[in-house]
Amino acid sequence: MTDILAAIEAAIAEDERTAREATPGPWRWGHMWPPYKYGLLGAPHPVSGAPQSIVPSAVPDLLPSKYDAQHIARHDPARVLRQAEAHRRILAVHQLEDGGCESCTSEYWPCPTVRALAHAYGIEVEE
Ligand SMILES: [Zn+2]
Repeated sequence: MTDILAAIEAAIAEDERTAREATPGPWRWGHMWPPYKYGLLGAPHPVSGAPQSIVPSAVPDLLPSKYDAQHIARHDPARVLRQAEAHRRILAVHQLEDGGCESCTSEYWPCPTVRALAHAYGIEVEE
C-alpha cells in the first residue's frame, strides 16, 4: 500500500511551497489602472504601497471572470498556509499504530479522517 501519510504530507508541502512563492495576500478582485479595468490584486507592494497585480483583466466578464477571480482570491496564499497547518495538525493525531489509527477507534487503516484528507488532495486510497 502506498504510504498515504507521506503522500498527503508531500501534497501539503507542495501547497505550502507554491503559496510561499506567490504574491502575498490578502487577494481581492478590484479596480485596476489603465489599460486594465479590473484585476486580481494582492497585498500592497512593500515599497510603493500600491496593490500588487496578480491577474489583470481588461474584459472581466471573460478572462478571468469575476467569479473565477473571486474563487482564486478566496484561496489566497494565507488561506492555503492556514489549511496546510490545519491538515498537519490533523495528521499529527491520526497516525498508524498497530495496524489502525492511534487516535480514532477505527481498526482500519487509513482511518476515515486520513481518507478524507487524501480525498482533499486527490490521492487515491487503495482498498
Ligand atoms: Zn484516525
